[in-house]
Amino acid sequence: MNRRQVLRSAGLGLMAGTAAHAGAIPSSSKEGTEEQASPRPLNLADYEPASMLHVQETHVARSRFPVIDIHTHICYSAKSRNGVELSPERTYLGTPLELLQVMDRKNIHSMVNLTGGYGTGLSESVKRYDRAFPDRFYTFTEPSYSRLLEPDYPRVQAEAIEQAHRDGARGLKILKTLGLYLRESITTGTLVKIDDPRFDPMWDICGQLGIPVAIHVSDPLAFFKPTDRFNERYEELNNHPDWSFYGHGFPSNAELIHARNRMFARHPKTRFIGLHVGNGAENLAEVSENLDRFPNLTVDIAARIGELGRQPRTARRFFEKYQDRILFGTDATPHGDEFPQQVFNNQLYEIYYRFLETDDEYFDYAPAKVPPQGRWRIYGIDLPESILRKVYNGNAARELQISI
Ligand SMILES: [Zn+2]
Repeated sequence: MNRRQVLRSAGLGLMAGTAAHAGAIPSSSKEGTEEQASPRPLNLADYEPASMLHVQETHVARSRFPVIDIHTHICYSAKSRNGVELSPERTYLGTPLELLQVMDRKNIHSMVNLTGGYGTGLSESVKRYDRAFPDRFYTFTEPSYSRLLEPDYPRVQAEAIEQAHRDGARGLKILKTLGLYLRESITTGTLVKIDDPRFDPMWDICGQLGIPVAIHVSDPLAFFKPTDRFNERYEELNNHPDWSFYGHGFPSNAELIHARNRMFARHPKTRFIGLHVGNGAENLAEVSENLDRFPNLTVDIAARIGELGRQPRTARRFFEKYQDRILFGTDATPHGDEFPQQVFNNQLYEIYYRFLETDDEYFDYAPAKVPPQGRWRIYGIDLPESILRKVYNGNAARELQISI
């Protein structure tokens, strides 16, 4: 069965009104029309409605203040299996000069490359970007999970972080690998929990070194629901079935978040950046509770303006209340065209700036013909300069202990 057939069988063909002729979608049925053709099905994937709203369209070419993008992926592991990185070697997605062109155009002072890896891969990333263009690029290190079975792993891992810090790493990045992919025998066996005590020395050493831990836990709530006609991210999950964590022995979103919170509570001296709005953008009340509970927690907004911008009033209040705890991030990936919500290009940054700086209404949250994370549009939250300054760079500069 191909995707279209799946859509049909899932009952997702849309009714195209009462069009009698191919390609014609009437605005309304005319009075006195006697012949009423039966509704014609339309594949959801083909549906690209053009908004008829005439509303303000502000083009924000440059951010009001210089940006530190705390969440980008300039390189990634060259070898992984079942979602676990197994090699220090990196695959690079963009050269510094190529990236700097967009950065200069869009007022991006610095990019933080979270997936810098470890060992030789990390040293090479730091050399290619951070050392070649000081202040413009910062690289984070990652755990070497392939060593998990070594008897002294907790100490070995903590020492590896210390070494990475000496090699130039400015923080530690945790992918959702922890909690969703890493298993007792690395790629097989039962899942290792986020609060597994084997990682305690790793969290502690980050606190001692004064470097933040950028942590991605869980995923959008819809990824834990069946991929069916009730799923608000049906098309996205249908296009990427491996993104679903429904069933198959995966923990629930709540279990993952609780394990993360238990770990946060055990390490109050370590600073954590909860990526993707602390993986809770659909429920800002809960994110707020966590921010209140954990003073060592900040959050970024990467790849979640689609969520924030569809609840603009709640989002604006959230930014007002936690203006010192929210960091600008995009999840930008050079040449990541397959995922328009995170492709590193001019348009992506302009959308983020428009969301933060204007009160424009009903615009696309990603540079794509069809909204890639769900079929809705967003509204700007029109933040004042005092908050913009903190979100664009002040909060990140504090967490990275840099000045710009
Ligand atoms: Zn990311």
